[in-house]
Amino acid sequence: MELKNTKYYDDQTLKRWIGDDSLNDELATRANKIRREIYGDKVYVRGLIEFSNICKNNCYYCGIRGANKNIARYRLSTEEIIATADLGYDLGYRTIVLQGGEDAYYTDDIFVSIIEEIKGHHPDIAITLSLGERSYESYKRLYIAGADRYLLREETSDKDHYYKLHPRDMSFEARRKALFNLKEIGYQVGGGFMVGSPYQTDDMIIKDLRFLQELEPAMIGIGPYLTQHDTPFRDFSNGSYRKTLRLISILRILFPYALIPSTTSLGTIDPRGREEGLKAGANVLMPNLSPTSVRESYALYDNKICTGEEAAECRACLEVRVKNAGFRIVSARGDVISYNKETRRYN
Ligand code: SF4
Repeated sequence: MELKNTKYYDDQTLKRWIGDDSLNDELATRANKIRREIYGDKVYVRGLIEFSNICKNNCYYCGIRGANKNIARYRLSTEEIIATADLGYDLGYRTIVLQGGEDAYYTDDIFVSIIEEIKGHHPDIAITLSLGERSYESYKRLYIAGADRYLLREETSDKDHYYKLHPRDMSFEARRKALFNLKEIGYQVGGGFMVGSPYQTDDMIIKDLRFLQELEPAMIGIGPYLTQHDTPFRDFSNGSYRKTLRLISILRILFPYALIPSTTSLGTIDPRGREEGLKAGANVLMPNLSPTSVRESYALYDNKICTGEEAAECRACLEVRVKNAGFRIVSARGDVISYNKETRRYN
């Protein structure tokens, strides 16, 4: 798929935009104009199934890191995952996101059977995976089985910063390689980063934007860094709400074609965060479909919203929020719009 149309702005301009809190309205107006030209008032919804909170890794910012002994761990069975996807389909979702920690219990064979079963029930549904780093062969098998998209945030494009956020048994290079592997295989790839993560500077954010311009992902997910009380970063402050909104606008200006979610973390840091994210240029929401019995245990950060509502309630609540923000939820796969270099138009 040819995207090839990121917009170039020099570092000085980006630095001014990123750092100036008074520019939110101006950037949002520009971003919203671009988004309406390309995607209209459509908001795509992705039904999120958090299938396991077991993870072998120990990212310093993450509440479900392997070393955290203070949370109840869970795994959804194959049957539970498929039943949740069926429920999502009945509620109108045409994209299902399977997200979990890096949990070796779920082998390629297990994922292949889950993907094939969901696609067998619903050929018109898109499946997005968010399973962390796996081998090239594994990514390929899951793609051939029917997975369409893959979310894997790079989190930072500064190597020193990477090792301030992650222990040394994780690899900066492996993360970047995985993203390019996914793209080569044919997935619609999603990258992204936290805004205001510990030790992050505006220059690092510019590096991230440059990396994303090199990667040209179909989806870019950013949200404010939010502290979780059981992590080594428990004493750091949350990222800035306004800066996150501003960066959503900057992403829309730089990546006109992209699918950009207004994240749950944005809704956690401010009650109107998801609506404001849409107004700033986002065009995707990822409501939780996971069974309510396990939602509290997927505690990536503190005070996460929507852990009590049933899936149908979430859907109804979002319809109202999106409408009030001036947009419209559509029941569609919501694939990325690609750019045709010859016609200079988005297909
Ligand atoms: S961020 Fe992802 S890989 Fe890192 S500890 Fe959390 S679930 Fe595991």
